[in-house]
Formats: sequence, C-alpha cells, structure tokens
Amino acid sequence: MHGRVFTSRRVIMGPLERDRDLLAFLEAVAVAHGVRTGAYSFFGAVRRARVAFFDQEARVYRSIVLDRPLEIAAGVGNVSLRDGRPFVHAHVVLSGPDGTALGGHLEPDTIIFAGEFTLWDLDGAPLERSPDPDTGLLRWPAR
Ligand code: ZN
Repeated sequence: MHGRVFTSRRVIMGPLERDRDLLAFLEAVAVAHGVRTGAYSFFGAVRRARVAFFDQEARVYRSIVLDRPLEIAAGVGNVSLRDGRPFVHAHVVLSGPDGTALGGHLEPDTIIFAGEFTLWDLDGAPLERSPDPDTGLLRWPAR
C-alpha cells in the first residue's frame, strides 16, 4: 500500500490578498488555521512571478523570473511539516495575454493581484519532509 490515509477535517476558503507574496500568504493561512497536513487549490492573477525548474542533473532549482502580470490558470499545492513547521509546496500554471501557459515550482517573489484559494485541512499523522539523497529534494518518507 502506497501513501498515507487522511480524513478531511474541514475546508477553508478565501481570497488571495492583493500585493502579498503568494507563497508566504499560503503558508501564513496554513499557520493561522493550524493546518499541519493539507491540500491547496488556488487560482487568480499575479503582478509578477518567480517559478523554478528543478535541474535533475545538477540537483538545483533554476529560477525563472516573469516580471509581468499573469493569470494563475491553475495552482496546486500541499502543506506538510518541515523542521516541525507547516511548509507549503506549490506549483502553478501561469498564462499571458495570448493564453499561452508556462509554469513550475512556485517560489517567493510572486506577488498576488487577486484570486481565491481552497485549503483542505487533513486529519492524520502529519507528513514531514526531509532531505532525500537520491534526488536532492526535500521529500516525504516512503512509508
Ligand atoms: Zn516543486
């Protein structure tokens, strides 16, 4: 059996707050509601963005700065623990005026214009991230 089973405790919905850093905002919402394990869905628009591509050979994130207004066509993420604190891992698909999309791993310095989020607070033994020597990433335990 793969994965851990959780039950949904409650669902929190709200607006993305204008001019806040998106990743820091998602983390602040999780902390404010005491969410230790959860799932995020969000969409809206940003004033500018920074996403990353993980270089699997070099094992480093390579940042992509998008210094222009973009739609968050889709945003997904989760909340788990890192060093005992709620930590958000999120990916976004961003689109421009012609509708073409690009995306990646959400990084700090992505600034909210407007939007909406849904956060599912999950009940169960919290997932905790730790460094994984096989990938160079912070990952959940296999079991
Ligand atoms: Zn990622």
